[in-house]
Amino acid sequence: MTTLLLDGGPVAPDAPVGRTGGVPLGPAGMLWPTCGACAGPLQFLAQIVLDAGVLALFMCAHRPGGCEQWSPSAGGNLALLLPAGALVPVPVPRGADPEALGLGAVRAAVPSADAPQGRAVLGSLGGEPDWLQDDETPDCPACARPMGFVAGLREGPDPVTAMNFGSGQAYAHVCGGCGAATLLWQC
Ligand SMILES: [Zn+2]
Ligand SMILES: [Zn+2]
Repeated sequence: MTTLLLDGGPVAPDAPVGRTGGVPLGPAGMLWPTCGACAGPLQFLAQIVLDAGVLALFMCAHRPGGCEQWSPSAGGNLALLLPAGALVPVPVPRGADPEALGLGAVRAAVPSADAPQGRAVLGSLGGEPDWLQDDETPDCPACARPMGFVAGLREGPDPVTAMNFGSGQAYAHVCGGCGAATLLWQC
């Protein structure tokens, strides 16, 4: 059973709801994550509310394609499964441009079992991944077992504030036992 995530319109940048853009929420003291390939601060893409916690998704925007942003393991993106509750906005690193670390627009991502009815589809929850290429179900970095698909993401309805998945779409997986999460994309 797949639930669509529909564009619910503008929402506060730090709203504790599913959304694309804005600022990430994390445990107090959390530092803004950096790219494992180029060490620059990652761009915050989205947070998705799951039964297992809050999924925070990031990707490097410094060298498009140069940090293997599509890979679930190269370090050019990051997925974190955070425990729900007591999450606070993660401070923007000193000297960084807050605009460049977000998408430039914040959209509520509202779960809906119904057809879009004129609202943009931002992604989906659950069900089976809609692979554009081969099945790339990642293995958990902690226990090496295949991870479970939890959410898909589209680039977004506005080219100016879109995520860069090479005109493709992204796939988030979680290992419930380990609390690990990954992001990858295909185009
Ligand atoms: Zn990078
Ligand atoms: Zn695992």
